[in-house]
Order: sequence, then C-alpha cells, then structure tokens
Amino acid sequence: MAGQYRFIPQMDEEQIAATQLRGLQWTVKHVYEGSPFYRARLHEAGVDPGGIQSLDDLRSLPLTTADDLKDGYPLPLLSVPEQDVVRVHASSGTTGKRKVLSYTQRDVDVWKNMFARCYELAGLTPLDRVQICVGYGLWTAGAGFQLGCEHFGAMALPVGPGLIDIQLQMLEDLGSTAICSTASMALLMGEEVQKRGLADKIKLHTAIFGSEAHTPKMRRQFEEALGVQHSFDISGMTELYGPGAGLECKARNGIHYWGDVYIVEILDPETLQPVEPGEVGELVLTSLCKEASPLLRYRTRDLTRLLPGSCECGCCMPRHDKILGRSDDMFIFRGVNIYPGQIASVLEHFPELASEYQIALSRRDGLDHMLVRVERLPGVEHGSDEQLAKAVSGEIRKQILVRTEVEVQRPGALPRSFAKTKRVQDDRGEE
Ligand code: ZN
Repeated sequence: MAGQYRFIPQMDEEQIAATQLRGLQWTVKHVYEGSPFYRARLHEAGVDPGGIQSLDDLRSLPLTTADDLKDGYPLPLLSVPEQDVVRVHASSGTTGKRKVLSYTQRDVDVWKNMFARCYELAGLTPLDRVQICVGYGLWTAGAGFQLGCEHFGAMALPVGPGLIDIQLQMLEDLGSTAICSTASMALLMGEEVQKRGLADKIKLHTAIFGSEAHTPKMRRQFEEALGVQHSFDISGMTELYGPGAGLECKARNGIHYWGDVYIVEILDPETLQPVEPGEVGELVLTSLCKEASPLLRYRTRDLTRLLPGSCECGCCMPRHDKILGRSDDMFIFRGVNIYPGQIASVLEHFPELASEYQIALSRRDGLDHMLVRVERLPGVEHGSDEQLAKAVSGEIRKQILVRTEVEVQRPGALPRSFAKTKRVQDDRGEE
C-alpha cells in the first residue's frame, strides 16, 4: 500500500520504533534543559537526561498528571523561552484552574499535519467542502479543524457550533460534503435536516465527530438523518495539541494514532505497571517532538487498550480502542479491575434494555457483592424481567468473568443527569 497517502507516512513497526526512540531522546534532553519543573522531576527520579538508550527506558521516567498542569498555571510544562510561544489554548474546565498549553510555531505545524492525516484517513480530497461546527477560540477544537483542513487542501467552512439556520443554509447552498462536530450536534443537525425536508438537497457524505461520549445508537441516528456514508470518531486532547491525535478508519476497528508523534502506554491505574497487550488500562502519553509544553508519561485518566496487529484498512499507524471510560471510575471487584463501560457494552446486546444502569457494591460476610440495576424499555413486558436479569447476569459472567446479581426495573426508574452520571455506588466500607 506504499504511496497510498500523502500526509500519513508509510512506516513499518521498526521505523516507528526508531522514530519514537529518537523523539524520546530529544524530548528528555529538551525538557531537562528547558523546564525547571521537568528538570526537578528527572533529578528526583534519578534519570540521566543523556542516558536514554532504548524505548524500555521510558519506564524509568517519572509520570505527570493533570495536577502538575494546574500547579504550573498559567504556563505549565513550559520548556522553551517565552518568546518562542506563538499561541496558547486551554481545556474547558468547569472548576478550578484551566489547563493552559503553549505552542511554538513548530507545534502548530505538527498539529495541522496530524489533522491533515485525519482528513486523509477519512477519505476526503481537496474537492471536499468541510463544514466545521465546533467551538473556536481558547478551546483547541475549531482552530485545529480549520488549520488542518486548509493544510490538507480542502475547503473549510468555519461556521462554529450552534447557529442551526446558518448551518443548514451552508449545507444546502455551499453543498458541504463533510461536517465536523460533536455527536450531539450532528444528531441535532440531522433532526433539523429531516424536519425541514432537506435530505435530498444536501451533499454530505462524511461526518467527523468527537470530544464527547456517544452511543452506537446515537451514531446510527445521525448517520441516517444526515445521509452520510461514513462517520469517524476523532481522538485528541488539549494536552496533546488538541483533537486530531488519531482517527477511526473505515474498518471501524479502533483508532489509528500517530505513533511517530507520540508514544502510547497502557498502564494499570492501580499499580502503574504496563498491562498485557490488548488489556484495558489507563492511556499514558509521551510526546516526541512537542516543543512548548511537552508531555512525559502524562496520565490522561482515560481507559482504553492497544489493538495489536495490522488493520485491514492498510493504514500502518498503530491503533488503540475508543475511550472506554475514566480510570477514576474503575473499581476492583474480587480482584478484577472493572470499569462501568464494560457493563454498558454488555447491555448493548439487549434490545429490551435502556442504556441506563447502576452498579451497587456491598460486602456481606467478608465477601464482595455486585448488584447491577438496569431498566427495561417502554413497551417491554415486565413478566420477562426475571429471565432478562438472568440473561444479563450470564452475559456479564461470560464477558467480564464476574458473578453479579441483576435487577430489571421499570422504564425511567434509575436517576439521570446531564452531567456525568454516577454509575457506581460503593458501600463496601460499611459492612
Ligand atoms: Zn484501519
């Protein structure tokens, strides 16, 4: 498949590893020389900044966390003279200090190139018209989508979020062929397209969506309503340039990430040791050429797993799974690491059930018990509750290898909230 892509380099595993080692060696030296914060951390860990010989030496490096970013406010991790910083972006935090990340011109260029790769992997061409329906400004999203689109050579239509009338007008009059938005914005636009009878008048074929949790059901809904043939989940975070750090491919089997730009480690969030390849753990990132705010083993708190092996789509870049949850939500039950998203994906197999669920943990006679409360959908006979509960419990046992009790409740019985719903109630401390 050599020469298939213009922006995504054709590299084999060895070439990616060699690039990673060079990038790691450069990054450790760079942060040691440029950042008092990192220099102190490396000293503490007893790391010789010139002594990185192999990728295994990554393990000897200290981990960094979101707290380090907050402590360094307003310009955390800064590793270049301030005169080299050409821009900052910040993550949208609801409480406390925001995470502000700095960019040199080279950082901006690397970012736009990663984004161009995303458009390329999504199958777009310079003839595509890309309607960008995400926020602009301090948040990273809009600027990245637009820079990358222009660098890729397609036509950017920077509408921003909301503004539904203008969105629809652009879809119709400019004939946008791709949209970039959150999943819920795509859903909203799809509903409006249907309501106003515009389905035959628009030319959308691709949707790139990200930045928030979505369900497969939501995705099918907006794909159908917008009439797109392909949709792609995009990954990324402000700490690592922004969105554009990777993209799902047409095989829909995980997210290809740019392994020549950053290293992915998957660690057990409890022991901080690497999990077996393919097992779920916390995503930990190390940047390879980031100048202004480099990342050394940054704990994202996101749970995912590496997907070993090559992808049928032919893209040589490595893959990780979609984000499966947050490590803060993980709990240990009878010695097994479990995160709520695992329960959620079991429930997806049951068309009689809503997607809401709750997990209650208790301890009786020194033994841990798990009760999973689920909801039947309106219209489903309550007479089959017991059978359904048994089936769910059996499927959990099969997939997650733990015994649970399952309780099927009436539609709407479980609490809901727009913010993050608390899925796990852990009463094991109060036997
Ligand atoms: Zn692929």
